[in-house]
Amino acid sequence: MALMKALRKTTANPGLELCEVEVPSIRSDQVLVKIEIAAICGTDLHIYNWDKWSSDRVKTPRTIGHEFAGRIVKLGEDVRHLKEGMLVTAEGHFTCGQCYYCRTGQGHICDDVKILGVDVDGIFAEYAAIDAKNIWLLPEDRDPAIGAIHDPLGNAVHSAYAHCLTGQNVVITGCGPIGLFCVALARHAGARKVFASDINEYRLDLARRLGADYVVNSRNGDLTSLVHKVTGIGADILLEMSGSKEALADGLGALRKGAAASLLGIFSDSVSMDLDAVIFNQLTLYGINGRRVFDTWYQMEAALESGLDVSPVITHRFSFEEYEKGMALMNAGNCGKVLLIP
Ligand code: NAD
Ligand code: ZN
Repeated sequence: MALMKALRKTTANPGLELCEVEVPSIRSDQVLVKIEIAAICGTDLHIYNWDKWSSDRVKTPRTIGHEFAGRIVKLGEDVRHLKEGMLVTAEGHFTCGQCYYCRTGQGHICDDVKILGVDVDGIFAEYAAIDAKNIWLLPEDRDPAIGAIHDPLGNAVHSAYAHCLTGQNVVITGCGPIGLFCVALARHAGARKVFASDINEYRLDLARRLGADYVVNSRNGDLTSLVHKVTGIGADILLEMSGSKEALADGLGALRKGAAASLLGIFSDSVSMDLDAVIFNQLTLYGINGRRVFDTWYQMEAALESGLDVSPVITHRFSFEEYEKGMALMNAGNCGKVLLIP
């Protein structure tokens, strides 16, 4: 059996291990992908740090990672619609296909979802076995680095495209990779003014480069007053991309009456909020989970094809051997998207 390198969680402790393991075998409905570029997601960092969520969810040993671009090197015997050599990425949520949600076109909230690199072996490896139905074909001329970030870009597309952004004043709280993608999407969609907040100057600089008109460091600035001052009545749309209670309060406070918000950021514990403001200001709050499979993917493809440029979000590249540098950088936060090259 051929061997490959893989970054694995081998014991129920913080950290990872660069291992030699067998190249995975594939089921008849899967393909084997040779990974060209992987990207580190916040989820991978949670698993690396071994927080409560990951220690409750992840069974060891497990190869982690789910953001990638690569080429198909082998097809399962039932796979007809794909070919060896194709440049691909994949939707990392494997839906059951049987539950109420799957059967009504809402697979993104499937009752029995399995996640690549969380519940099944992932792509921080030279090769990965992926369900053919989850494969997303990339155009041959797509930079594989951009191909590798389709999954988080899809989270941003799902959040942003829940609204018509054209001509609207848009507030984005949190300029991690997904918030940064939202800045670029709002600009691309023809937003009027784009406001972005974070507590990290490195990320606020990136937000400026991606087209934010106003950036606010919430540690010393007042997003809510600024937005009201500039717009007169408050913003039309909030995209909450931080998972911070303070940012949520700032963002909701920045909205005009009748406005809408997408909530993607995940809060580490329960949040209390001013529901009277939601009620009397007639706000609409959308919870956003993952990507609509595959509606969001077609919308993302359309945005990229029509000139959406998210390349400034990619700030660092490391080899697999240097994974600890990548994780440390992500923990410190002075980065956009960090790539790992097998
Ligand atoms: P990230 O952690 O890199 O970004 C969050 C950003 O929020 C950071 O840059 C941080 O400095 C900033 N922040 C913290 N406090 C703030 C404050 N008071 N005001 C403004 N900004 C503040 O995360 P990411 O990978 O970009 O993902 C964004 C969020 O979405 C995370 O909370 C993540 O867990 C969540 N997420 C949700 C889904 C979903 O399906 N709902 C999927 C992926 C990620
Ligand atoms: Zn299901």
